[in-house]
Amino acid sequence: MIESHRTVRTPIRIGSEMIAIEPDTEVDLDLRMESVSEGVLVTGTASGETAGQCSRCLEPVEDTVTVFLTELFAYPDSETDKTTSDEEVHRVDGDQIDLEQSLIDAVGLELPMSPLCREDCPGLCPDCGVALAVAEPGHSHEKIDPRWAGLADKLGQMGDQTTDNG
Ligand SMILES: [Zn+2]
Ligand SMILES: [Zn+2]
Repeated sequence: MIESHRTVRTPIRIGSEMIAIEPDTEVDLDLRMESVSEGVLVTGTASGETAGQCSRCLEPVEDTVTVFLTELFAYPDSETDKTTSDEEVHRVDGDQIDLEQSLIDAVGLELPMSPLCREDCPGLCPDCGVALAVAEPGHSHEKIDPRWAGLADKLGQMGDQTTDNG
């Protein structure tokens, strides 16, 4: 068995539209590689910093994601190699294993669909769009009384007709 601890830089962005490990971010890999009859079994963890946007208030969100990896890389000409496609089971390529796809899959599952800057993020004001977390306490807007609003609409329509006829 080989244990390997190293830090790599991701060449690509790994994650979803809302949150991801950005390109050129350090990812810590803590892996054990075991030779099994069909190939190399890789288990361990990968962790890296993520950057994204709160899905409610759109403020930047920074976090760390840690994923557990368990992946078999089949030897060429093994039974697994003959009976599966390389999309189902990865292959040992020469003396290399390429963890990139495993990492992309695992991180994709682990990251939240809707990241939040904090659990109780109040989101944005529906009227003016300011982030309520940073707005003044009790932030609100003077609302026109609905009866007035209806009257204002009617007045507006009359005005339009006058213009049309005129
Ligand atoms: Zn937020
Ligand atoms: Zn507002």
